[in-house]
Amino acid sequence: MTTLPPGVTFIERGWLSSNSILLQDETSNLLIDTGYCTHADQTLQLVTDVLGDRPLQTIINTHLHSDHCGGNATLQKYYPKVETLIPVAQAELIDIWDVDALTYKPTGQHCPRFIRTGTVQNGDAFTVNGAVWQAYAASGHDQHAFILFNTESRVLISADALWENGFGVVFPEIEGIQAFDEVESTLQMIEQLNPTWILPGHGAGFGDIHAALGRARSRLKQFRSSPSKHGNYAAKVLLKFKLLETQTLRLPELLTWAETTSYLQMLRQEYAANLSFGKWFDYLCRELEKSGACHIANGRITNT
Ligand SMILES: [Zn+2]
Repeated sequence: MTTLPPGVTFIERGWLSSNSILLQDETSNLLIDTGYCTHADQTLQLVTDVLGDRPLQTIINTHLHSDHCGGNATLQKYYPKVETLIPVAQAELIDIWDVDALTYKPTGQHCPRFIRTGTVQNGDAFTVNGAVWQAYAASGHDQHAFILFNTESRVLISADALWENGFGVVFPEIEGIQAFDEVESTLQMIEQLNPTWILPGHGAGFGDIHAALGRARSRLKQFRSSPSKHGNYAAKVLLKFKLLETQTLRLPELLTWAETTSYLQMLRQEYAANLSFGKWFDYLCRELEKSGACHIANGRITNT
């Protein structure tokens, strides 16, 4: 455990909602990432618990996956004057709310519409409580993601670019956009920043950066040598996410959802074209059960 710099509150969540980080001083405050929409009321509660009567001034999203900005709409309603800053390259997509390009539709996930008032780009810096947090473009898991680093404390807000155990699915790869090199460049950049403590997008904060980078690189090596491993992992992550969201479903309901989720269709065509969708789906569900991620009985699949 490390002592975070004054004014930094790490709000750790589970795997459905991303973690949030609140930076504050006497005159300003800023929230990084807002979780998934089904937890939006909880997110608001957690934020008001820290801020009390003071209004939230700024939301920053490290990237626009549904589990990182799903609380934006609720927070904007509660705090009508809040500024909302998103990665600059996606400003137009948010303005026209393109659910395909923003991946909400192809992942079969939900994100209530919100507005952005500004953008973040590589090199932008935010000063709160005298500490400067600088944004670094960190593509790989997501093409437009960024991470935030404070040089004095050497604390890094890594989003899904680096977790204690790996990193998030390399989403561009699902669409056939090669991004494993970008994952590697981002890991290299993190190594060069040389943080002493990381606040990740999911999971607990951690300090053994060297070990985490080692695990991430060995995972990346596996994915590179066998892209189907990554494809399989991505498909299971999408199914598990749906289970985290719904907790329990009849298997045919989950199958229907999966069949209409275009990323899953694309993954099957790329990596399991020899299997029917139903057979591939059964295989993935069994794999999830074997790893302890769900329980299947009497035609129902339940999150565990
Ligand atoms: Zn993500």
